[in-house]
Amino acid sequence: MLEPPLVKVAIVGGGVMGCTSALVLAGRGADVVVLERAIPGAEASSAAAGILGAQVELHGSAEDAALFVRARDGWKAWADALRDATGIDIGYRLTGVLRVARSETEHAEVAREAAWQAGLGLRAPLLDAAAARQIEPELAGDVVAAVHFPDDTQVDPPALLRALMASLARSARITVRSGITVQRLIVERERCVGVAIDEGALHADAVLLAAGSWSSLVLGVPASLPVVRPVRGQMVLLEERPPRVCSIVFGAGAYVVPRGDGRVLCGSTMEHAGYRKEVTAAGVHAILGGALACVPSLGGAQLAGTWSNFRPHVEGRSALVGASPLPGLFLATGHHRNGILLSKLTADAVADAVLA
Ligand SMILES: Cc1cc2nc3c(=O)[nH]c(=O)nc-3n(C[C@H](O)[C@H](O)[C@H](O)COP(=O)(O)OP(=O)(O)OC[C@H]3O[C@@H](n4cnc5c(N)ncnc54)[C@H](O)[C@@H]3O)c2cc1C
Repeated sequence: MLEPPLVKVAIVGGGVMGCTSALVLAGRGADVVVLERAIPGAEASSAAAGILGAQVELHGSAEDAALFVRARDGWKAWADALRDATGIDIGYRLTGVLRVARSETEHAEVAREAAWQAGLGLRAPLLDAAAARQIEPELAGDVVAAVHFPDDTQVDPPALLRALMASLARSARITVRSGITVQRLIVERERCVGVAIDEGALHADAVLLAAGSWSSLVLGVPASLPVVRPVRGQMVLLEERPPRVCSIVFGAGAYVVPRGDGRVLCGSTMEHAGYRKEVTAAGVHAILGGALACVPSLGGAQLAGTWSNFRPHVEGRSALVGASPLPGLFLATGHHRNGILLSKLTADAVADAVLA
């Protein structure tokens, strides 16, 4: 027989944040319901490239370095745990990332990045063109240098979401309700005590807001919280036969992510386009232009698909995680470009806050 639950948690949103938080909370004894208005995982979380880019995504922020690196370094164990629980391989592959330079200005930038990260104690060697080509022979002839992040890695987000869903289904403490839109938070005596859905009130001891780019649209969210806005990212999927590219390559304006089986994801735009999910001619042009400039042999690959989705972005913040100004309401949203990377660490922090 199950122990009585410590707390009942209602989670708004079934993306990587909601699903991972549900698993961690249930693993620590909470009773959880995930409320997803459509299909769990079908928005940003499955659209992502899956780069666990702790170092390539730092962009000069020493503040983020420890958190990002800790998040990345926990992924091997998390991938193993999900595979052991479900039999699903989430595509964790230590491919490393090369940020390449194709001009003297870019050379100076990657040299600065390499020196700065080395100063933080991170592995980020600056490579000349020959050394970079040893790691990735498909690099363009005009690549003059690269900074190498050998410890940055990747997972395959659709496989990750399948594994999360399979784990959720195995837990007696978790209910996933698809097709349920949370209309508003229920607030009584200045405390969030549940959510309103079509069929009425659903009461809970704690509510976790994990609605991605739609988080600020849920009525009742405190006005004092920073607004989460969508930043559209378009993606292009290529298929190489046989597979040739082996490292993740970042160039100016585009990146290339080989899955190892011939699939190569190319991304991505950063657009303030509201909630318009179009894949545009200009977007695909920019992505393929940037990708082929770094890896010209991809010009012969088959175009296998395109899609777009919305990164949840909060101006000036890397995410909103943990307790909120409204008692009873907790947050796991606003992770922008690094939501896959940070999902497990976020879920751990949320569980600490909810169960404190
Ligand atoms: C093109 C692209 C590439 C990316 N690449 C990477 C990458 O390489 N590495 C990385 O770490 N991150 C990457 N990201 C970012 C990452 O995908 C996101 O930060 C992360 O998926 C956000 O997860 P989430 O659960 O907050 O949001 P989502 O996955 O969008 O989930 C939110 C869910 O909430 C549901 N919802 C919304 N409102 C309601 C409501 N009122 N009631 C019920 N349900 C609701 C939605 O239907 C949705 O399923 C990328 C994103 C994009 C778009």
